[in-house]
Order: sequence, then C-alpha cells, then structure tokens
Amino acid sequence: MDDDRLPWHRDPWRRIQQRRAAGRLPHALLLSGPAGLGKGLFARGLARALLCERPDAGGEACGQCRSCRLFRAGSHPDYSVVQPEEDGRIIKVDQIRALCAFLGYTAQYGGYKIALLEPADRLNVNAANSLLKTLEEPPGNSLLLLVTAQPARLPATVRSRCQKIGFDPPAMVAAVPWLAARVQPGIEPETLLEVAGGAPLAALAQADSERWHRRRELFERYEQVLAGRADPIRAAESWTRGDLAENLRWLIGWHTDLIRLKMNSEPPRLSNPDLRPALQRWADQQTPRALFERLDAAVQLHALCTTTQVNAPLLLEAFLGDAVG
Ligand SMILES: [Zn+2]
Repeated sequence: MDDDRLPWHRDPWRRIQQRRAAGRLPHALLLSGPAGLGKGLFARGLARALLCERPDAGGEACGQCRSCRLFRAGSHPDYSVVQPEEDGRIIKVDQIRALCAFLGYTAQYGGYKIALLEPADRLNVNAANSLLKTLEEPPGNSLLLLVTAQPARLPATVRSRCQKIGFDPPAMVAAVPWLAARVQPGIEPETLLEVAGGAPLAALAQADSERWHRRRELFERYEQVLAGRADPIRAAESWTRGDLAENLRWLIGWHTDLIRLKMNSEPPRLSNPDLRPALQRWADQQTPRALFERLDAAVQLHALCTTTQVNAPLLLEAFLGDAVG
C-alpha cells in the first residue's frame, strides 16, 4: 500500500485492485462524489499504476520505469486527458471524436490506453452521444475514467455503461488528524471541515489564509448590510471579488445555519461553528418564514450566477437590497 495515498482513497483503491487482479476491470469507470475528495488525483494515480511496466504486488506504480517517467512528464503516448477548453465551459464533440480515435489506435507500449474525462458532467449532448458509441463497443485495451461531482448531469445512457466508484467524505476522526497536520496553528481543522462539507481537500483549500480572510470579510459586510450600516451597492462589489461561486456557497451555508439555529437551540451540527454568535443574533431577530425566504433567494442567486450568463453584480445588489428592505 502506498503510504502517500489519501486515507479515504484506500478502500476504493483496494476494490479496484481486486477487480483488476480478478481480470474484471471494466472499460469505463465513473468516479463520483462531492468535490474536494481528490477524485481526479485518484484517477491519475490509477492511470499511472495501470500503465506502469513493473507495478508491485499491491498494484502500485513503481515510479521508475519508462512508462512512469513518461507519465510524470505528462507525455505518455497511451494516456489522454479531456477537459473543457475553457474553465467552466463544456467538453465539445470534437474533443470526444479525437478521444475515441485515440482509444482506437493500438497502444504504443502494448498495455492499456487510458483516457480521463474531467469533469465528465461538462459533456454537451453531442459529445455525450459521440462518447456513447465508444462505451457501447470499447476497444479491447481501453479504459475510460469519468470523474464528476455531479453524476446526475450525465445522460443515464452514459452512466449505465460505466461501473461506479463512489467517494464519500471521510469520518471526522480520520479527516481531522489528516487536516491538522497540514494547516497553520490557529486555524481549527474541525471548523474548516464543517465549512467544506466534510471534504478534506476543499477544507485544505479554505485554509489558504486569503480565502479564509475573504469569507470573514464577506460575512462582516453582510452583517453590516443587514444592520443598515453598509450600502448594498458597495457591498455587492466585494461579493464579485475572488471566486463568486464559492462566495455564494458560503452565503447559502450561513443561511442554512440560521435556520438550524432558529429551529433548534442546540442544533446537532453547524456548517459555520466559528460564526455562531453572530448567526445566533440574526436568527433571533428574524421569523422562520423570513429565514426560509432568504435561503431560497440565496440558492436561486447561486444557481443563476453559476449556470447562466447573468449580470451578477446587479443580482447581488438586488439580493442585498432586499435584505434591508
Ligand atoms: Zn513504473
């Protein structure tokens, strides 16, 4: 077993290696689960191990052979990665046609031909249809690795032709020590994990002090707007800085916690335990109905801003303006 492997990857790794040892590795694997669990990392590690010329008994790559060296250099001829050409956009049909042609050629090193699609849910309809043909009649030595945090966005016809490997957030007892060893003193790993929905890599990314700081700053701005002490238009500007989708996920998390606090004086869990005193004050001042309406509005704002081309500053101004009105 590779000690570098993320602890919560050990089980899925073992399951795949068992299938491999039994000669039952499928032609397509769908790696799914929440963002921030390292599914892409897992897929790359699997590809590297399957292409390795001298894997060990546990199926781990040797790291030394010609294949491992080429893989590390990003130039293995039997491995291909397909991602949206622009961040956040779609995977196009031309990319899938090229991929299918790639899989159809004989492997240069006589082993697997492996293609990684990430995030696979970005396939557009034509691209998915094109991929379907390859999934129905996969070339003998090919393996497709589809990685997604949103499997429901993939056509059922594609999903049904892949074997699913699900990833779940690890238990707190496993995640906290792992994270604690990687963050600066003074940042609580438990809080980071709660904020990140239990996903350790997402939590680690939050620990980046700039993002952590931005979250606190947005929270304070929002608090000021609610108290009528800040101008919603000026506040809207600060929300468009950094990663807007992430900012809005935080907003949803605060509102979810407000409802938890309103409904239960001792809620079993909060996503933002560090913000509890302020959240409790807001919750006390609002009716349940108003809190649910604000949560709906926050969810809708996130959906609009992340899935369609909209004037985000204008929507933010409206949302923040409503908070006062
Ligand atoms: Zn090797």
